[in-house]
Amino acid sequence: MRDAYDLHTHTKASDGLLSPRELVMLGNRRLAGMAVTDHDSTAGLDEAMAAGAELGFPVIPGLEFTTDYGAHEIHILGYFIDHRHPELAACLERVVAGRLERARGIVDRLRGLGYPLSWEMVRAQAPGPYIGRPHVLRALVASGLVSKHESDRFFQDYLAVGRPAFLPHQEIDAKEAIRLTLAAGGVPVLAHPGRVGSESMLAELVGEGLGGLEVYYPRHEPGDVVHFSRMAARFNLVVTGGSDYHGEPDGVDLGRASVPFSSVEALALRAAGGAGRAFLSGLHKMANGGG
Ligand code: AMP
Ligand code: ZN
Ligand code: FE
Ligand code: FE
Repeated sequence: MRDAYDLHTHTKASDGLLSPRELVMLGNRRLAGMAVTDHDSTAGLDEAMAAGAELGFPVIPGLEFTTDYGAHEIHILGYFIDHRHPELAACLERVVAGRLERARGIVDRLRGLGYPLSWEMVRAQAPGPYIGRPHVLRALVASGLVSKHESDRFFQDYLAVGRPAFLPHQEIDAKEAIRLTLAAGGVPVLAHPGRVGSESMLAELVGEGLGGLEVYYPRHEPGDVVHFSRMAARFNLVVTGGSDYHGEPDGVDLGRASVPFSSVEALALRAAGGAGRAFLSGLHKMANGGG
């Protein structure tokens, strides 16, 4: 089995297209293991981990917080969390409720702009509690209001930050996401730092308990990888990586970025809760059981 772990993936529990089980089955065909990291949601983790256990395929429980860092939006991944931790669960419930309100506002704006999108069509794209702009975009396409080949352009022109149908989320603070991840026994990791990550930001987040840096990411240039590898070494951060796979046929493919087991082991050992150790002992059993 190739020593490749994809540590950044999305399912239908947020804005991915595959169910957690479908995603894990795909991972099992081409990876040594994977993490499931839905946006602001842990709703897919039970199904993903059950599928992994059935297949004898290592699945790491995770999530990706959308957070505020000053005027910027940054994403904080959390690995080996106890996803039933009450404070974490309560926070995510609030965030997802806020996303629903915001989506209604976005749909109202689109109607005002001449796109008579029905809320039912949006709901059909986002049947669970989580909702984001990709669901709204898919509903516009499904309704025939925007053509598939114009959809990227439409996102840029209408739904992107500062465009006429955009509304911000009610995000949690980056420090709060780090604190909650640690409280839930997990390891907080800065996602895709190539978009925003300055050295001073890293120093500050490390002071809050950041434990890893997503060095390997499809949109990182070779120079980014070199730079952020150095930053990870300087701040004693675990080097992580993943594809940000969403199940879109024309999007980034699963496994497009990955890390070896040594990174996964370092994360598991850094996790203060039981999920890291449970993962490592599960691997040991799989190896000894011939699974
Ligand atoms: P939201 O959760 O509503 O803030 O939407 C963020 C998601 O929108 C990201 O995770 C991306 O998957 C998607 N996204 C961001 N930019 C674009 C774009 N230009 N076209 C299509 N989807 C995008
Ligand atoms: Zn997404
Ligand atoms: Fe992200
Ligand atoms: Fe992501």
